[in-house]
Amino acid sequence: MGELLPIIQLGDPILRQKANLVENIKDERIQKLIDDLTATVAKANGVGIAAPQVAESLRLFIVASRPNPRYPNAPEMEPTAMINPKITAHSTEMVKGWEGCLCIPGIRGRVPRSQKIEVEYTDRNGKLQKQELTDFVARIFQHEYDHLDGIVFLDKVESTLDIITEQEYQKQVISNT
Ligand code: ZN
Repeated sequence: MGELLPIIQLGDPILRQKANLVENIKDERIQKLIDDLTATVAKANGVGIAAPQVAESLRLFIVASRPNPRYPNAPEMEPTAMINPKITAHSTEMVKGWEGCLCIPGIRGRVPRSQKIEVEYTDRNGKLQKQELTDFVARIFQHEYDHLDGIVFLDKVESTLDIITEQEYQKQVISNT
């Protein structure tokens, strides 16, 4: 099992940097980082985490959708490391949905995202993967992908009226779904 890593918070300049390509996926340090990120996102009740969130400016993230107290309706999937990811196509249809971020505790925002995307990434074994993602998992991918370019979900909220506190989110949104 991986170790828990400290998650940096909004304001740390690393979150605003463009992350670097991962050169050698088989490197022990990269493999350990994947294990540590997987453990860290599970412990934090997240559904995804990108390397810059733990102060590693690398193009790598984990998508780990599963129902948990922060996202009770999330679909279940195996945590997947996605390395040097790309979005190769996206639907013009945009959907607004609630997001939070482990680097921005206490805040939720309604963010427009493409409903469907086609992606490519290298997996932890060095194999190129191509997938079509939809709905919530597509949303996670787009959120994590933005972290690699120094973008956070608040940058993509259309109106400050679409931002609420975690406490109100729990009250208004989760209790009504
Ligand atoms: Zn985030």
